[in-house]
Amino acid sequence: MSENATFPGDKIASIEEYEAGHNTFDDGDMVRAATVGEKDINKETRIANIKHPKLLSIPQVGDIIIGTVAAVMSSMIAVSIDYINGKPTTSKVECVCSTRNLRIRNVALVNDIVKLKILNHLNGTIHAAISEPDLGILFTKCRKCGGKVVPMRDAIKCTECAWIDERKLSSDFGNSDFIKLRE
Ligand SMILES: [Zn+2]
Repeated sequence: MSENATFPGDKIASIEEYEAGHNTFDDGDMVRAATVGEKDINKETRIANIKHPKLLSIPQVGDIIIGTVAAVMSSMIAVSIDYINGKPTTSKVECVCSTRNLRIRNVALVNDIVKLKILNHLNGTIHAAISEPDLGILFTKCRKCGGKVVPMRDAIKCTECAWIDERKLSSDFGNSDFIKLRE
């Protein structure tokens, strides 16, 4: 690896001097690498890029993303991003979303499909929000048997084993628009 090698989250330039280009993001202070790659600082255009064989799609603040829950921790979930503003992405960039203030057991399960809004890029991590009504789970299954679930007010009920559980559902839950997006 050359001395220009970067890892995700590495600071590559100050935003006062450079704009975030390909495969980078701006955390409000620094331009940071979004991927492993090689630094490419263009002094003429004042754009800082990371060279990478694949052009990554990095969501920007305010973007709506749809992704697959990759991990569920006690106070946050990690989501692998599949769509940014309705456009498919194969980059598999991850974001995290705090679930601390939701007061819901089982906000999401691994492999659930979730809709989130990008809040910020902080310390090399992309943070997203889930609390607005249209944000939340679009697709989930029963935690006990993996069966199909239907919404019941704020809860969900399994059509197979009748298990009742909670999720932070999106107001779009049960509407299959996101499946059309997958085509
Ligand atoms: Zn069930």
